[in-house]
Amino acid sequence: MEDNLTGECLCGTVKFSVENRFKAFYQCHCKQCQQLTGSAFASNLFTDPDNIEWLSGRDSVANYEHPSREFSKSFCKVCGSAVPFINKTKTSLIVPAGSLNKLPDIQPQANIFTAEEACWLKQGLQADNFNGFPE
Ligand SMILES: [Zn+2]
Ligand SMILES: [Zn+2]
Repeated sequence: MEDNLTGECLCGTVKFSVENRFKAFYQCHCKQCQQLTGSAFASNLFTDPDNIEWLSGRDSVANYEHPSREFSKSFCKVCGSAVPFINKTKTSLIVPAGSLNKLPDIQPQANIFTAEEACWLKQGLQADNFNGFPE
């Protein structure tokens, strides 16, 4: 097992390192996560708030907090990729799974808020697979 995992945004401006110790790994299907990610669900790892070392580009991280509800997101100002953030109650650092360069040891434990699941998710998983665009 890797002791430390690195991650970065798509354009490479923001880079970070986290220790490979996570409390939870959830796939959230709520409508707000669909809007925040533009996809069917958000895959997020939860760890301690101090478990992060920013290696570069911290000045390029922008934060969004919903005015009344418990939704935050941090993203690279250059490319818009999701990057780690501390939740509103400051109890966890939330690491978007796709921002990591290598997978952590922990596997997804739960699909949450599935009552709001995207109507295309199940059919999408059953659609034909191609290694690139369909011919
Ligand atoms: Zn970027
Ligand atoms: Zn959600």
